Amino acid sequence: MKVLFAVSECVPFAKSGGLADVAGALPKELVRQGIDIRVIMPKYGSIENNLKAQMRKIDDFTVEVGWRKQYCGIEEIEFQGVIYYFVDNEYYFMREELYGYFDDGERFAFFNKAVLELPVHIGFQPDIIHCHDWHTGMIPFLLKMEYKEKTGYQSIQTVFTIHNLLFQGIMPRESLNELFGLQEEYFHIDYLEFYGCISFMKGAIVAADKITTVSPTYKNEIQTSAYGEMLHELLHSRSSDLEGILNGIDLELYNPERDPFLFKCFNGKGLINKQENKLHLQEQMGLPIKEKTPLIAMITRLTKQKGIDLVRHVFRELIAEDIQLVILGSGDDEYEHFFQQMEAAYPHKCKAYIGFDEGLAHKIYAGADLFLMPSQFEPCGLGQMIAMRYGAVPIVRETGGLNDTVLSFNEQSGEGNGFSFSPYHAHDMLFTIERALSFYRDEECWRKIVENAMAMNYSWAQSAIKYKQLYSELISRSEIYVY
Ligand code: ADP
Repeated sequence: MKVLFAVSECVPFAKSGGLADVAGALPKELVRQGIDIRVIMPKYGSIENNLKAQMRKIDDFTVEVGWRKQYCGIEEIEFQGVIYYFVDNEYYFMREELYGYFDDGERFAFFNKAVLELPVHIGFQPDIIHCHDWHTGMIPFLLKMEYKEKTGYQSIQTVFTIHNLLFQGIMPRESLNELFGLQEEYFHIDYLEFYGCISFMKGAIVAADKITTVSPTYKNEIQTSAYGEMLHELLHSRSSDLEGILNGIDLELYNPERDPFLFKCFNGKGLINKQENKLHLQEQMGLPIKEKTPLIAMITRLTKQKGIDLVRHVFRELIAEDIQLVILGSGDDEYEHFFQQMEAAYPHKCKAYIGFDEGLAHKIYAGADLFLMPSQFEPCGLGQMIAMRYGAVPIVRETGGLNDTVLSFNEQSGEGNGFSFSPYHAHDMLFTIERALSFYRDEECWRKIVENAMAMNYSWAQSAIKYKQLYSELISRSEIYVY
């Protein structure tokens, strides 16, 4: 079984969020389970030099982006047992950030075409191309509409995984011809048309042989108007090909027993060492060193999706509690400014580090008592799983993958690995935080909750088996067709 895994970011090469974690961990697990899976991603300028130095050029060819003919180099690394291909074009990818440029449509149109051209050039003939989010959304569409008749492409099947339906790659109508050289017939409700524009994400949902999303709850949610981002009816029409497979986390990367970023490594049996991480974190962040004061953390993109409005709404009531709050994140200006202002107003209780810092994130997971994730929607969410592994008890809203991973603590049965609330309402969140704080004050009970959280196993092993089954199913389906 040969799989080409096309993705726009991947740990340890480039990361802006959970997608990179998934792309870094899932292929590694699938290789372990015997699949010849290779990852392909853009060669960004921001990839660390020591990783770039290990890349070996294996080919170059020309890729057509509408009327343009662009250079496409292919470089290769083998890293932790997985082969990675990097699509090299300095004009498109030698930039500081991964996304957010005026020509993202053109950049990823180029990447999509490069992925499709790869098999005929490098002699790796995939059975499946597994694509992720809008940045790779035109691959299934172009394959089905333009490439299917070409030699070498007839039997390739596609899987498209939705990590976040909010970002759809919506481009002007003209992009159809301008970026893909496609005819106007595809500007149609049954193909790419999306309210007067074209949508990369829609292209994938229309054309992929199988669609997955990253948790069972999100799979159901996206088929409703509340969460479906105006694609719910289309998704519903494809429900027989839609599956929700829960993400895992990389247990080697996120391992409190062997994490080089921590002040002191620890496990569920030695929580005293977790406490040392808390004290060091307080010191590093310039907070008063207070062993008994619960430290609540958020590590997140600062966007509306993440429920920051709820925190903002009840902030003064929350901070009046005997707590410390540490926020690591970046995103929308209004939220960044808000937390900076709150840090200035409550310097002994609130610290906001605006930016992206992997090492600091690990230190915060290890030092925090509670991890707040009140998302408006959350396709899967990795933060809460990482937090549990580091003994930081999650407080979440019951949506998407948060609903599938966090079980609210039940004092009668002693079951539960966190705290949760359902309505998207600031005072429901506040009440839930207060409930968690009341248990925190009972040391024995708190130890039990932390142990429950740390005992959860969110490894990739089980989920990777589900992807493997999906690939097998598609391959046998294509063999029937070819026959
Ligand atoms: P999303 O992919 O929607 O951003 P997830 O919870 O799935 O959210 O994944 C977020 C990942 O990014 C986690 O690994 C989290 O620790 C990390 N992360 C988010 N913000 C930051 C930050 N400012 N600095 C370091 N890591 C971050």
